[in-house]
Amino acid sequence: MATSANVHGHILPISSHETLSEKLNGRWHEKALWGFMAIVLAHWGEHFAQAYQIWVLGWPPSKANGILGLWYPWLIKSEALHYGYAVVMLIGLWVLRKGFAGRSHTWWMVAFWIQVWHHFEHFLLISQATLHHNLMGKPVPFSVLQFFFPRVQLHLFYNAVVFIPMVIAMYYHMFPPKGEAPAACTCSRYKDEKEEAESHA
Ligand SMILES: [Zn+2]
Repeated sequence: MATSANVHGHILPISSHETLSEKLNGRWHEKALWGFMAIVLAHWGEHFAQAYQIWVLGWPPSKANGILGLWYPWLIKSEALHYGYAVVMLIGLWVLRKGFAGRSHTWWMVAFWIQVWHHFEHFLLISQATLHHNLMGKPVPFSVLQFFFPRVQLHLFYNAVVFIPMVIAMYYHMFPPKGEAPAACTCSRYKDEKEEAESHA
């Protein structure tokens, strides 16, 4: 194995030469997934707050701006907040994909491709808000499926259909099905049991 001496003269394997992608999909995968999940849940928080404002408090949808939008309404008016979440989720799903294998990888990529469409819808929305020119002369920015479904419900649906395959992927990643080896990262719970069993052997 290639080695290098550090400042104390110890011999280290050249694992520090791993690329960022290799780290994020290897020894940092578990932490990266938790961080990514925290962002996804913060985004859910915005949508749940908005749903509560509309259906429990009875606010008009135009005033139901979620959490951050209450203090910074421009974040919603400009479409910046939800476009930002859509981009970050797209990047996160893409960057962390290689840590997944087998069935978990399939489900993760299902989430990714649905998010590609969800992001495209948000791209249409932020473009209209930025250019001050809405599709088909609508009074507010519109996206494709918004011609068929109300916006608030549509985006609750979009987030659910991205989130569900993500959670299934993470489940199979933590508990690989029979015949699938645990991935290279520390996420698999079976691996912990195996290591524990070996350390007691
Ligand atoms: Zn992992």
